[in-house]
Amino acid sequence: MDVDVVVIGLGPGGEYAAQKLAEAGLSVVGVEKALVGGECPFYGCIPSKMIIRAADALAEARRAGSLSGRADVAPDYGPVATRLDKQATNHWNDDSHATRLEEAGVEIVRGHGRLDGPGRVVVDGTTYVASRGVILNSGTEPATPPIDGLADTPYWTNREVMRLTELPASLVVIGGGAIGAELAQAFARFGVRVTVVEVVDRILGPEEPEAARVIGDVFRAEGIEVITGAEIGRVDHDGTFTLTLADRTLEAEQLLVAAGRRTNLSDVGLETLGLDSGAKVVETDERLRAGERLWAVGDITGKGAFTHVSMYQAAVVVRDVLGEDGPWADYRAVSRVTFTDPEVGSVGMTERQARDAGLRVVTGHADLPESSRGWIHQAGNEGLIKLVADADRGILVGATSIGPSGGEVLGLLAAAVHAETPVATLRGMHFAYPTFHRAIEVALADLGL
Ligand SMILES: Cc1cc2nc3c(=O)[nH]c(=O)nc-3n(C[C@H](O)[C@H](O)[C@H](O)COP(=O)(O)OP(=O)(O)OC[C@H]3O[C@@H](n4cnc5c(N)ncnc54)[C@H](O)[C@@H]3O)c2cc1C
Repeated sequence: MDVDVVVIGLGPGGEYAAQKLAEAGLSVVGVEKALVGGECPFYGCIPSKMIIRAADALAEARRAGSLSGRADVAPDYGPVATRLDKQATNHWNDDSHATRLEEAGVEIVRGHGRLDGPGRVVVDGTTYVASRGVILNSGTEPATPPIDGLADTPYWTNREVMRLTELPASLVVIGGGAIGAELAQAFARFGVRVTVVEVVDRILGPEEPEAARVIGDVFRAEGIEVITGAEIGRVDHDGTFTLTLADRTLEAEQLLVAAGRRTNLSDVGLETLGLDSGAKVVETDERLRAGERLWAVGDITGKGAFTHVSMYQAAVVVRDVLGEDGPWADYRAVSRVTFTDPEVGSVGMTERQARDAGLRVVTGHADLPESSRGWIHQAGNEGLIKLVADADRGILVGATSIGPSGGEVLGLLAAAVHAETPVATLRGMHFAYPTFHRAIEVALADLGL
């Protein structure tokens, strides 16, 4: 069958590209082997943030007593399992995603798509020939760390968690990255006894060390045990889970493994275009071109495993396919948010990355509890602003915003890093009083530039 474009995998980027190209009048086939929409709406961003929204509301209600000076105003929360059940039943088919694409003119083909040379894709024996080319958006699966015994146990990944209707009494989370941290805190706030086990020496490893300190302190205060630098010898399951660490054992009713993602690249036919089918990521240029008549978008490109990166890249591909001018892909100011409470928002380079890049780095800090808004907020006011500046160019190259709505405060900092706004210009801004973002003014002064 001849078409203009075939999209393999309809995660956020593939879905976006397919829709936009079909709306532009091209004939588009979208191939999906599971759920149209990919990880984000069903197993990832959206259901996890729905769970977190409920957990945060409970935590905020618990803070009411301390804020009002009346311990007795804390309400009875009711059965939290009801909330989980509602989330699961409201959100478990891909009709809305598939319908939106079909209304735009995309032909959806259900099955496993495999490249078969430039511009060719085979699905269940049918070959599709794409005159403009193929967009690969095959995404990721949860990775299984090589721990003795683990593979034989009924452990959870994010995919099982998003379907839960009942809470366990206790949970061990392997992995203290964004996904593990977010879910650990949410479960703890629902009343589950939670232990986070992280093999490196701090949680939230890719973020600034200050993030690990703030979130680690909050977790401990909320009763979450955090074990870092752990050596996990083996995992057993005998009704309950037992983790054998170097110096102790842990027991829990359930085990969640949130230890990274594995890209779906081994069986998509990359070798038919002369590319390495054993590679962990697909190399792309600034137009996301990966080979002859092949573009790649999303987590498989290794440029940030985020929905907004996948959609940003898809927009670049759409421009390239339609023969439009750029802008082409630029990753200087990728922003990301860990939706713990407080949220950890960050953009661009960490201090370490900036130093490793050879920049003359200066940093500026502001502690949120000492800001006017932090003082007003009281319970739950933990956080800080950290700025990373290139002293030679007088611009911010990275920033972290930890606090209530830290991800929202990040917007200003992301714009500054993206636009390379001079620090002198930022310092001359008005910062509304008493907002959380006003703490940025203090951090700018602390840069000493
Ligand atoms: C628990 C969790 C929380 C997250 N929270 C956030 C968040 O808050 N913010 C954020 O930005 N990101 C978040 N993410 C990451 C986000 O989900 C991904 O970055 C996002 O889904 C983009 O992925 P993608 O476009 O690469 O494709 P994916 O979403 O991985 O989709 C790929 C699709 O391709 C299909 N597929 C694969 N191979 C084939 C094939 N050969 N043929 C046909 N179909 C195929 C798959 O079935 C899948 O539907 C979260 C992830 C998880 C797991």
